[in-house]
Amino acid sequence: MNLEQIKTGEKCIVIKVHGHGGFRNRIIELGFVRGQEVEVIKNAPMKDPIEYQVMDSRISLRRSESRQVEVMTLEDYNKLEIGNDFNGTICIDCKKIKHNNPSKTINVALVGNPNCGKTTFYNKVTGGHEKVGNYAGVTVEQKIATVYRNGYKINIIDLPGTYSITEYTKDEVYVREYITNSHPDIILNVVDATNLERNLFLTTQLIDMNLKTVMSLNMYDELSKTGTTLDYKSLEEMLGFPIIPTVASKNEGIDQVLDAIILSFEERGAVVHRHIHVNYGTIIESSISKIKKELDLNKDIKVKYHTRYLSIKLLETDSKIDDIIQNLLSTEYRNEFNLEHLKSVVATEKKNLEREYKDDPRTIITSAKYGFIRGALAETMKRKRNYRLEASSEIDEILTNKLLGIPILLGFIWLMFQATFTLGAYPAGWIESGISLLSEFLSSTIPEGIFRDLIVDGIIAGVGSVIVFLPNIVILFLSMSFMEESGYMARAAFIMDKMMHNIGLHGKSFIPLLMGFGCNVPAIISTRTLASRKDRIMTMLLIPFMSCSARLPVFILLISIFFTANQGFVLLTLYAIGILVAIIVALILKHTLKVKEEAPFVMELPPYRLPTLRTIISLAWDKVSQYLRKMGTTILAFSVIIWALGYFPVQKNDVSRVQKLEQSYIGQIGHFIEPVISPLGFDWKMGISLISGIGAKEVVVSTLGVLYGGDENLSAEDLVESTHLKQNIQNEVYTKGERVGEKVFSPLVAYGLMIFILLYTPCIAVVAAISKEGGVKWAIISVFSSLFLAWFISYLIYQIGNLI
Ligand code: GDP
Ligand code: MG
Repeated sequence: MNLEQIKTGEKCIVIKVHGHGGFRNRIIELGFVRGQEVEVIKNAPMKDPIEYQVMDSRISLRRSESRQVEVMTLEDYNKLEIGNDFNGTICIDCKKIKHNNPSKTINVALVGNPNCGKTTFYNKVTGGHEKVGNYAGVTVEQKIATVYRNGYKINIIDLPGTYSITEYTKDEVYVREYITNSHPDIILNVVDATNLERNLFLTTQLIDMNLKTVMSLNMYDELSKTGTTLDYKSLEEMLGFPIIPTVASKNEGIDQVLDAIILSFEERGAVVHRHIHVNYGTIIESSISKIKKELDLNKDIKVKYHTRYLSIKLLETDSKIDDIIQNLLSTEYRNEFNLEHLKSVVATEKKNLEREYKDDPRTIITSAKYGFIRGALAETMKRKRNYRLEASSEIDEILTNKLLGIPILLGFIWLMFQATFTLGAYPAGWIESGISLLSEFLSSTIPEGIFRDLIVDGIIAGVGSVIVFLPNIVILFLSMSFMEESGYMARAAFIMDKMMHNIGLHGKSFIPLLMGFGCNVPAIISTRTLASRKDRIMTMLLIPFMSCSARLPVFILLISIFFTANQGFVLLTLYAIGILVAIIVALILKHTLKVKEEAPFVMELPPYRLPTLRTIISLAWDKVSQYLRKMGTTILAFSVIIWALGYFPVQKNDVSRVQKLEQSYIGQIGHFIEPVISPLGFDWKMGISLISGIGAKEVVVSTLGVLYGGDENLSAEDLVESTHLKQNIQNEVYTKGERVGEKVFSPLVAYGLMIFILLYTPCIAVVAAISKEGGVKWAIISVFSSLFLAWFISYLIYQIGNLI
């Protein structure tokens, strides 16, 4: 009996909630737990929704949802006898524990490849006393055995063995229909441990379907004989369900499996069931989510099927799934849904995938599944030598080799940055000339006055100083997208995983951190690919310590003045200090961050492939456009603010630009903060530069240029070369205060300033990105903690340096 059948005013007791994991969780969260009393408030015939009283609240369910809740009337429930085997621990919130309580029946379906030991398991469970029965309406013989354990009645159904749950054979169709129509409470996935690659393929389909699974790792004796070891404890955490090693033929592990089934049913096992996703890669995932969005429009389909699973199946051209959707829609599920539109979305996505991969989507998805399996086993399975994984293994043997892996990775990174900066320099030069032409043109056409100053010195100078980095960023993203789509990025994450774990991160965080050296903004955005929120937040907080390309001009200028002898080395120390600080901060966060620790997950090792230029460009464009959007909004606004602070209050024309700046608001702020920064050896001019650098770090250079009497019309890059500016900076002396006559800059002060610029508040675009991706709270934390760190470390450098 289901909840839909209960009439208005009647009461009933919940026995079980059927359906896939996502649906079940939602309904249980609403209060429909086993043993719960539910009153029907309003159940109008044929009308949605139905209204219920559950505990203290009124809840509406759709008819399709109600049908998935198994109940018995309160009357029947009260007729049940209290049994002798009552031990008081079974039901959550049961008002009365009764003998024969139907909520104490667990239906288990055995699913697995042929010859993995299902029948053997089944026979051992029943001890040969199994009841063999035929279910009406099915042609395949179905055996169902019943065992009693801990007050539970466990029905075990031995399904035919299949390699996959698709629609190729009668057996496969049968298994799938059994699962979706009979809603077994638990799927017992029996796998042959000696042949895991192939056996886990079926498992990935169970994961797609979001079914509550317990795995029996059978033939464990055979596995031990081969000398291969499997860290099944890690594997079960990654897959999100319990795995129990068994030797069915020798009756080993059977009881443990039954116990695990009961614990899973009661939702209180040591391994908490967790729904994971097989990650099919950026392109396929985007197709899946487009189709899923269409399917999700129909709430009734969502009840019966996990829509992610249906989406994958639609991409795979599973003819039966087409039928299923057709059927669903032709009957009661036709509302809120446009079948033709869904079909066209599916067709477009399929065509995209075919064009991209030059292969049919089913093959692509299958090989992505094997990528998932390869990744899971690479982390957990240690084989005897001379054993080879199939497919991409030969290349992987070299690229993920213990000794060679990291040097090769560093080589690729070096190449990428080389390309970024050398190739990028040409278009950057063109853009720069373009900008100066534009500002000259506007200077000569717009009449003198505040409007011209705003346009030329505020907007064009501000946005222009950032837009010159666009070519570098484009090249960086193109190479990143190539590494990602070729399959190498997954290996990079894999190689770095161990090291990253030491600092409390996951291998996948390595990619955004690496990107941070180019520009922090897209790096922050790319943390979206990380599965756990804790990883995302931590990575976001660490990215600003990766010295982005905007900080480089500042470093080059100061290094070329004060560290002429060993420029390269000093620059390297800055990058290294950034990384070191990131590691220390990571270790601190690892112990303090109050975000719930999340379980490990599989790192897919997708097959290698040569991506098309079109994909690379479109993936890179996604990131570049995010960067451009930031520029059009945040950076533009901040450029104007900084300009206005330096422009107002307006001075008479005969004062020099430096004096003007000193008396402007920004100059006043610079003086105001001098007491705070003088322990670091900084004067008010450096203060102004640092404040203006909050807009964008490269602005520090142009501000220094203005303040230290470099030619004010020079661009950032020419300023770096300007000997006039360099001499002025070197010769600058204090004109006021107790240090009058002393030189302002020394190599020590310069180094401290560079460290400060390296570590302090990320630029405004990054702050905006953190706040969007992680929340305002973390953006604020990032701003203040990095400000503090910068001050503290620069202070240490200056004070200790002075002692030496
Ligand atoms: P099914 O096709 O999945 O039902 O597999 P069966 O139960 O028919 O088992 C296939 C073969 O594997 C039989 O010969 C079993 O005796 C053997 N077998 C089952 N479990 C184990 C095990 O744990 N270890 C070993 N060594 N053999 C097993
Ligand atoms: Mg069998």
